[in-house]
Amino acid sequence: MTVHTGRHFLQIPGPTNVPDRVLRAMDMPTLDHRGPEFAELGFAVLASIQRVFRTKQPVIIYPSSGTGAWEAAMVNVLAPGDKVLMCETGQFAVLWRGIAEKFKLDVDFIPTDWRHGADLAAMEQRLTADKQHKIKAVCVVHNETSTGCVTPPLEVRKLLDRVKHPALLMVDTISGLGSLEYEHDAWGIDVSVAGSQKGLMLPPGLGFNAVSEKALAVARANPAMRSYWDWQEVINFNKAGTFPYTPATNLLMGLREAVRMLEEEGLDNVFARHRRHSAATRAAIKVWGLETQCLDPNAHSPALTGVRVPEGHDADNFRKVVLENFDMSLGTGLNKVKGKLFRIGHIGHFNDLMLMGTLSGVEMGLDLAKVPHRSGGVLAAMEVLKGRDVVPMSKAAVA
Ligand SMILES: *Cc1c(COP(=O)(O)O)cnc(C)c1O
Repeated sequence: MTVHTGRHFLQIPGPTNVPDRVLRAMDMPTLDHRGPEFAELGFAVLASIQRVFRTKQPVIIYPSSGTGAWEAAMVNVLAPGDKVLMCETGQFAVLWRGIAEKFKLDVDFIPTDWRHGADLAAMEQRLTADKQHKIKAVCVVHNETSTGCVTPPLEVRKLLDRVKHPALLMVDTISGLGSLEYEHDAWGIDVSVAGSQKGLMLPPGLGFNAVSEKALAVARANPAMRSYWDWQEVINFNKAGTFPYTPATNLLMGLREAVRMLEEEGLDNVFARHRRHSAATRAAIKVWGLETQCLDPNAHSPALTGVRVPEGHDADNFRKVVLENFDMSLGTGLNKVKGKLFRIGHIGHFNDLMLMGTLSGVEMGLDLAKVPHRSGGVLAAMEVLKGRDVVPMSKAAVA
């Protein structure tokens, strides 16, 4: 048995590190979810999560993984046979499409090379051609966690408005919420999908749907089968601060504390911190002479960075060397990029020295695994962090 001392470095882009304050907040006796004490917690978390989504609209909180929240988004507003437009930004888009297909939706899936955000030009062309408005929803992944490429949801909203298409805009911001700018109301998003274990710094187990008036109206008229995921049922109970079934009470205690932490730091500062860490990471990668998975300088994710290993080298072997030698977990390459890249998560509960530890582990691991690179990446990252420069929002990150 290998004995590890000190803290494990969990540098995967979700689940992310949970702050001690959040752990303490959850370390409580379970409580009566029909009692007066619970309603206070219920009202508090419903209000606080609205502030994070930047919405006045209902946010439905499910005891579920992000996948559950994906499914909820679809079953409430879509019925078998409905046409949806999606874009293959990476593995998470592929998985969301998989759900759509199981529900017999008619998916138009626009391919990309997994190294850019969504192909907005191709989407515009499909929407323009759809004169009869057969497309009922456009679904995009905001922060594609499998590649580290961002698609700006506001640009998709503008595109729908430009071509005057009434399709619902559904956005997976599971790894975006709490780490990248997000504006459910101001950006005209109809359904936002999120989860607890990424930027929200919680353990896995909560899924979220923020829903517009328009989406609620479509859901009311939608006869498709659903029960557990039914928005209206949850919204009705939420009026009394409660839920139609036993909620994940202790995770909700954690959520209340996590949002307090985000608000103490200030959401804008949280987003700036993620951009800064992303910039420092890229400075290191540049010196190492490696390539980022994302090829669009405007689309680099503030939350994680996908790093390609040179041809003939195995990213998973490199990850294994790092885990064995330095007790650090890095994200694996998913599906068609398996073995070709590793992912550095710089998301959630994180600071400069945690990033330095992470990048040092990567640089030493590159040496030990004999992955060709130049040394000095860590020093370049230090320069970025020492400067405490405010890294400007890229167009993609804001919009
Ligand atoms: C993590 C993630 C998911 C899946 O969430 P689960 O909780 O694993 O079901 C979906 N989309 C994105 C963008 C994610 O990062």
